[in-house]
Amino acid sequence: MDAVENLHEKAFRSYAPGHWPEIPPEQWNDWKWQLRNRVTTLESLEKKIHLTPEERAGVILSGNKLAFAVTPHYFNLIDPEDANCPIRRQVVPRIEEGNTAPWELADPCGEDSHMPVPGIVHRYPDRVLFLVTDRCASYCRYCTRARVVSGVGEQELHTDFEEAFRYLETHTGIRDVLLSGGDALLLSDGKLEQILARLRAIPHIEFLRIGSRVPIFLPQRITPEFCKMLQKYHPLWMSVHVNHPRELTTEVKEALWRLADHGVPLGNQSVLLAGVNDSVEVMKTLVQKLLQSRVRPYYLYQCDPIRGTSHLRTSVAKGIEIIEGLRGHTSGYAIPQYVIDAPGGGGKVPINPSYVLYHDEEKVVIRNYEGKVFEYPELAAEKTGANLRDDVKCASGCRGK
Ligand code: SF4
Repeated sequence: MDAVENLHEKAFRSYAPGHWPEIPPEQWNDWKWQLRNRVTTLESLEKKIHLTPEERAGVILSGNKLAFAVTPHYFNLIDPEDANCPIRRQVVPRIEEGNTAPWELADPCGEDSHMPVPGIVHRYPDRVLFLVTDRCASYCRYCTRARVVSGVGEQELHTDFEEAFRYLETHTGIRDVLLSGGDALLLSDGKLEQILARLRAIPHIEFLRIGSRVPIFLPQRITPEFCKMLQKYHPLWMSVHVNHPRELTTEVKEALWRLADHGVPLGNQSVLLAGVNDSVEVMKTLVQKLLQSRVRPYYLYQCDPIRGTSHLRTSVAKGIEIIEGLRGHTSGYAIPQYVIDAPGGGGKVPINPSYVLYHDEEKVVIRNYEGKVFEYPELAAEKTGANLRDDVKCASGCRGK
């Protein structure tokens, strides 16, 4: 508990002497320097932290699975003395990545089978994912797109930009485009602006989104010039990806505020990860710090059944327990929707604790966050003729309609 409280108190700043004591702030704050100086090899990693045998073997294995790369900014957040450090668990490979559980898949969300043209994933009627690059600032060991991301996996991403734009132009039912990858914020301002301008020229596209972990791995990228460029393409929203309170450093918070100051609404998508954020205390601290960073917690994802990620996955019961520990115990704005991305391409399915104890044509019996039970009259069916859901059973076992 103390450790969690400290996370609230401490204003982390990655530009402490850390592992790069000789680097002046001007260089440290240059996002291209950060990218050029990522930790990518076993040799450079071993000079900085003492690896366990499992991590050492994991780094060697990562060479033909999902590349190992960590920006200096993010690397400075790793506790070199703690092999179970929640930051380290997210980016330092482990030998367990070589194990595949029977239910694990290379493409668990069925993206490849929902790709009408290379680089466009069309799973929902009115919105698409546009995969604009296969590179990220650092690589998350649980990445859903590990098969194509980082350039060393089993598949390659070959987005055909002209074909993708033609698809978007001719499918008038698409009103929402989410730029992803990889990470779109690794593109230069000019390249990203070309994409945004082209999308904005399509009349039926109402809403643009960017999914990015760059503000967390590489906050230096969020320059005032970049934010000004984004501002031209509103409404443009951004989903960032923070899993642990320690990631919300002073630099990250400043970058998020800068985006918000330029009118970019921010949501956060966390992945529930064993040993990283699988406790109510850590998650509550995270969501409260997100609100302070002007980011609305949006989704909490059950970790997709990606090959080699069993050591990072929790039970679904744990996710429900966390949501239950948040609801009523902190601001409603702070509570993300817990979801399972249904294997095979079924899309996101909301998973909630059950607060409805009983439901029939006359009443609904509910419990609140303290476990107190209340009864509420059921009037809707009588007034509207609507039937109760088929799957709601009353306590004595009969159907609710
Ligand atoms: S930033 Fe996103 S796309 Fe890149 S490795 Fe992490 S989870 Fe995958």
